Amino acid sequence: MAETAKAAVFKGPGQGYEIQEFEIPDPDPGAIVIKVAMAGVCGSDLHIWRGDSPVFAAMAGGVVGHEMTGRVAKLGSNITTDSLGQPLAEGDRVCYAYFYPCHRCYQCNKGEYAACPAKLAAMAAGPSPFNGAYGTYYYLRSGHWVFKVPDELSDEMVTPVNCALSQVTYGLQQAGLQMGDTFVAQGAGGLGMNACAVAKEMGAGLVIAIDGLADRLEMAKQFGADETINISEVPDVAARVQKVMELTGGRGADVVGEFVGIPQAVSEGLQMVRGGGTYLEIGNISFGNTMEFDPSSLVWGSKTIVGVVMYDPWVIPQALNFLVRTKNKYPHEEVVSHDKYPLEDINRAFEEAEWQKEGVGTKVRRAVIIP
Ligand SMILES: [Zn+2]
Ligand SMILES: [Zn+2]
Repeated sequence: MAETAKAAVFKGPGQGYEIQEFEIPDPDPGAIVIKVAMAGVCGSDLHIWRGDSPVFAAMAGGVVGHEMTGRVAKLGSNITTDSLGQPLAEGDRVCYAYFYPCHRCYQCNKGEYAACPAKLAAMAAGPSPFNGAYGTYYYLRSGHWVFKVPDELSDEMVTPVNCALSQVTYGLQQAGLQMGDTFVAQGAGGLGMNACAVAKEMGAGLVIAIDGLADRLEMAKQFGADETINISEVPDVAARVQKVMELTGGRGADVVGEFVGIPQAVSEGLQMVRGGGTYLEIGNISFGNTMEFDPSSLVWGSKTIVGVVMYDPWVIPQALNFLVRTKNKYPHEEVVSHDKYPLEDINRAFEEAEWQKEGVGTKVRRAVIIP
């Protein structure tokens, strides 16, 4: 009888997960079966778990989770190297994109893989049930990008690479952040904190982090934020915009990034962008949530909005190199919570990661699961 392993099946918004056993697949010649070492609970996973948009119900019955690292358990017979030509063998730790561009559309033909309209639908449609991070194994499909992870990086450092870190790295480049620029991060969770450090490394002159939790803002400072604004101390939107104006010579920031996933943050953030500046939209992944917005502010302000979800594959090795270079400069491991949950406790991990529950949000930074 074939060997089996556990995975957490998503029962639907508000219903949590159920542990089930599935057959461990053998990889196709171009595929890799990965033993997941660590899986993160990302803000997006919380949106799905909560059911912040009706479309997330469609994910019920599958294995979700997308932020992870792991080791090669079974290598497809045709694979000898990673995507950069480095020798790859069973046991090697790897990092990979969790989405699958179709290579059969207009955007893919232009090399704009992050914009492929089919990349998400393909996530759930793998040849094995091990399609998500919340399983003992992950099936990396044929031909997909895969990158060997430098030994000097811990699992804690690498787990957010294929989501939070690559996402903000790609986003800030798409937004055109330049040396000396002022940058505002709305939200200092996993995305926002990484954005502060990446912006600094890209040469930002002033980084301002905004959040409602004091300990996150303290952490943002360690990740390069020069100034912080605590929403609990400055509850008025106009006052927060004013504060950013004061810190930026009355102009507003060159780039403002949204990493909280609340539509109202967008109208606030757009007011913080300088004339001719850029607003980077990353956090609002829940379909159907809307906000009031005066488009004339874009016209009269000559402002640009850049929206990104996911990234192009070259960003992963860039993000890994960033970690190697800055591993002693920023407390990367601290983004991940000290509380690690076994797969069986995934429901508790989500409950404790739920930042909207009063008093709980401050406890867990980024919950991780060790399947
Ligand atoms: Zn994520
Ligand atoms: Zn495509």
